[in-house]
Amino acid sequence: MTLNMESQFSKLSLINELLESLSNLGYMDMTPIQEKSLPLIIKGNDVIAQAKTGSGKTAAFGLGILNSLNTSSNNLHSLILCPTRELAEQVASELRKLSRALPNVKILTLCGGSPENLQDRSLKSGVHIAIGTPGRVLQHLKKGSLNLDSLNIFTLDEADRMLDMGFEEELNEIISHLPKKKQSLLFSATYPENIASLSERFQKDALKVQIDTTHEESNIEEIFYEVSPTQDKNNILYKILSSSKPKRVIVFCRTKKETADVADFLLNRNIKAKCINGDLEQNERNEVLAKFSNRSLSILVATDVAARGLDIKDLEAVINYNMPSGADAYIHRIGRTGRAGKKGLAFSFFNPAEEFRLNEIKDLTKKDCIIEDPKKLSYKEKYNLIPPMKTMYISGGKKDKIRKGDILGALTGEAKMKFEDIGEIHIFNAFSFVAIKRKNIDLAIKRLSQGRIKKKKFKVGLA
Ligand code: ADP
Ligand code: MG
Repeated sequence: MTLNMESQFSKLSLINELLESLSNLGYMDMTPIQEKSLPLIIKGNDVIAQAKTGSGKTAAFGLGILNSLNTSSNNLHSLILCPTRELAEQVASELRKLSRALPNVKILTLCGGSPENLQDRSLKSGVHIAIGTPGRVLQHLKKGSLNLDSLNIFTLDEADRMLDMGFEEELNEIISHLPKKKQSLLFSATYPENIASLSERFQKDALKVQIDTTHEESNIEEIFYEVSPTQDKNNILYKILSSSKPKRVIVFCRTKKETADVADFLLNRNIKAKCINGDLEQNERNEVLAKFSNRSLSILVATDVAARGLDIKDLEAVINYNMPSGADAYIHRIGRTGRAGKKGLAFSFFNPAEEFRLNEIKDLTKKDCIIEDPKKLSYKEKYNLIPPMKTMYISGGKKDKIRKGDILGALTGEAKMKFEDIGEIHIFNAFSFVAIKRKNIDLAIKRLSQGRIKKKKFKVGLA
């Protein structure tokens, strides 16, 4: 690896605590969008930043926000709006990581699906950075539990999706609550025309920075299949899975019903798949996403909205069961794979009437679309996809002050499990999930049920 001295974070005027966090996180070099936007943000400019999904936009605004934060007061320093709960949670988690070396930073998420009175209480006790979805943030503004008078930096993340999802009215209303004097940041993966007019409504002399995606070498192999309405799509899906054997896949569908149907089809073929769509309760979503992330689940069938902002590492393939409704949305979807320099696969079904969509994509990516005949797919009848991990449930979580280290300690200590057998750990409020290698899950459950975590007994079982 060559060290690019030009793009080290240390050349920026970042406070030492942030440099320390960055070095702990192993962020050596700035990503291109960070390199372009951070100096402007640190100087206090209003900024519009556009770069593709997975390019490190969160840390770009996150570092800017944390760098100017004064923790000696309890005032609200910054509000970040995200289009979905998952995305807000991810931004919060990235900001918590970045602020680890900074003592006493109070970060709160304000999203639907979580009790409002708990949020009221936290807001009352003082929050530095609030991260929320438009609906819930607006609710708090209306009833006065959230006040933006002291706000220094306002950030709109994934602005393109916000508009796609129809949040325009809520955004306008939130904007009307912003103080006149503030710094404002707008981040987006794409730059459709309506973003400029949105920016004008709350930004002043905004500087625009952009990382051109179209000339970049793509490490995603994209293949398109023409499927006529009479052909059996599920069967082709099965053949694709069986011939390319990806370990982890997201299948994108257009409707909730379609996600359920596709997941059912796969389950009938003994391939464990789960769907996420707007019908799921928050805790069901958390469970599915945690299992997909920790490799206990190999196939996720999702609508665009439900999959928004997911940053699952090492996703090997994305399958577009339907063509997305525009070239930008297509880029978004396939951007879930081939991240961080890894190879990715993207398969897309289009019906004969949708060929124009391929041209839109070609115009944007400046690449020819490779169309293959689904009949030529070579595959095995006997195909299965068994996730390498299983998820263990523990009846204790944040409310019991359990941390990842406590669980790891209990498992590797008293329960005598090997470090290599343990995968991702997710800690929720009332419970936790731990991924364990499939063949050792029973042993791990048995041993931990007999043991203790932080000197307390918890129920342990298969999630
Ligand atoms: P975006 O918002 O542009 O889609 P994210 O902010 O989610 O992208 O970042 C994608 C991934 O890159 C995250 O896992 C993040 O932790 C990582 N990342 C961000 N900045 C850096 C950096 N400078 N060096 C290494 N990894 C980084
Ligand atoms: Mg982002």
